[in-house]
Amino acid sequence: MKKITSFVLKVASRCNLNCSYCYMYNLGDNTYLSQPKFMSIETITIFAMKLNEYCIRNDVKYLQIVFHGGEPLLWSMDNYKKSVEIFTKTIKNVTFDFALQTNGVTLDDKWCQLFKNLNIRVGISMDGPKKHHDKYRVFHNGKGSYDKVMTAIERGKKYGFNSILSVVNLDISPEEFYDELKNLDVQNFNLLLPDGHYDNLPDGFHSDKVNTIDHTPYADWLIEVFKIWKTDTNRPMIRFFRTLIELIMGEQIGDQMLGTLTNGVAVLETNGALEVSDSIRACYEGITRNNLNIFNNSIEDLHDDPLFEIYFNSHSMLNEKCINCLLSNICGGGFLGNRYSNENGFDNPTIYCYDTIKLVSFIQNDILSSLPNDINNSLEIHSLDYAEMVHEINISTSSKIDKSIKNKLNSFKSNVKERNITC
Ligand code: SF4
Repeated sequence: MKKITSFVLKVASRCNLNCSYCYMYNLGDNTYLSQPKFMSIETITIFAMKLNEYCIRNDVKYLQIVFHGGEPLLWSMDNYKKSVEIFTKTIKNVTFDFALQTNGVTLDDKWCQLFKNLNIRVGISMDGPKKHHDKYRVFHNGKGSYDKVMTAIERGKKYGFNSILSVVNLDISPEEFYDELKNLDVQNFNLLLPDGHYDNLPDGFHSDKVNTIDHTPYADWLIEVFKIWKTDTNRPMIRFFRTLIELIMGEQIGDQMLGTLTNGVAVLETNGALEVSDSIRACYEGITRNNLNIFNNSIEDLHDDPLFEIYFNSHSMLNEKCINCLLSNICGGGFLGNRYSNENGFDNPTIYCYDTIKLVSFIQNDILSSLPNDINNSLEIHSLDYAEMVHEINISTSSKIDKSIKNKLNSFKSNVKERNITC
């Protein structure tokens, strides 16, 4: 049974920064221009009513509400107070997890106190040392935002906000990156791989070398960071590594990037449109658009959206190589948006396929080499050879992809206009 338990609310469809890699504004999709700048309280009210009905019908007991944008701090303080009150009064018998992801540049004490009072967890985005952060995360006048973000991180710590999110930037050396991370002195850190796909390659990939055995720029970088992190006796939690380690050890966990769990995440746009995860927008203009709107539809209607079906099941609706891959329980074929190509739609391994194989092989072998033999013998994992694994996925055809799944994955290679979208 499909269940959506996490809702990303695009409370502002504009941003006070102009980050060069932003999937909202600078990667393939300009449909935000037709959106209202802010979500109204009327939209929140209707959404909360529909969400209450959805929770009752689908026996949802836990709800994550993520305030997002654009930049969510462009929304008013009053709107946050009203929204949390509307949600908690309208929807009974669920446990709420309120969260917010900000670029931090206007996060002052008033905001911090408000979020603490409303029990909203705050995550701040930053991208490494000043010269690197300021290259990408810039204001509309081109000025870097590093100093303001650092002030926000320091301020946030006083209120217990300890969560930082960074996009991997290969221009930063792993040592420099880790030094910066330690300087921040935060406990909870996560790394994101850059958006991108076969027809819009992430930085650092060479088009003639993608998924060739010696071209694994992200694995090479991450392995070096992993080595430093592992030897640090006072290491912060890096969720990306932790998730990989837990998956290697057989835990049933994961997210939209890794593992085999379903992705019960939906997005509510400022105008009430109900859509699939917005980072898939980096594939092409309008790919997430459908005809659904919270004013006219129930939340269950999203279950029938063909893109939502693929996104929700993205770790089980796999390309044939992934089906035959020994690491599919860990990798899950990767994040759906990283699987896109104009030629095959989502019927590809992730653009980070070889990087994933190399990184997982390294970490798995490292775990094994750290443990005594008697423990190793009792574990259900064994050492991996990166070259052999790559060879294996390229020759193994023992399992075939289901035809209807292949057709569904391929159906997204065409232009959005063919999906008959009217809003
Ligand atoms: S490592 Fe590559 S082949 Fe294996 S599941 Fe991931 S994307 Fe698919």
